[in-house]
Amino acid sequence: MKDAQRSLFTRIMDREILADIVYEDDQCIVINDIAPQAPVHMLVIPRKPLAKLANAGEQDKDILGHLLWVAGEVARQRGVADAFRVVINNGSGAGQTVFHLHLHVLAGTAFDEASLANAQN
Ligand code: AMP
Repeated sequence: MKDAQRSLFTRIMDREILADIVYEDDQCIVINDIAPQAPVHMLVIPRKPLAKLANAGEQDKDILGHLLWVAGEVARQRGVADAFRVVINNGSGAGQTVFHLHLHVLAGTAFDEASLANAQN
């Protein structure tokens, strides 16, 4: 792949850019988000540079399943398995800013409707 096409997350995986890596295996890495939106905010990122979820093909079903399993695994490791959220932003219209598929794992904050309404006020 041409250098200019390599994503920020590929550069992190290749250790060209420093990041706080909390888990890795042959298919993905997990890093702490640099601008956390919750006390626990991790990103689960496939080594395969799929730009976004909608670009995944049938051949990617195993890796998509693996990413979800890893999300649960790192939530368990961080002690937040009882209450966490997994979010995928697909496309700039949905807030995606890094075009290399990633799952946000968010935890450590109240997710009930009342708390979310208070946070917005
Ligand atoms: P999204 O907006 O869904 O594409 O999410 C991209 C996420 O990547 C954001 O939550 C950013 O804070 C995070 N991010 C950007 N650069 C870095 C970095 N160098 N290390 C860790 N997280 C990053």
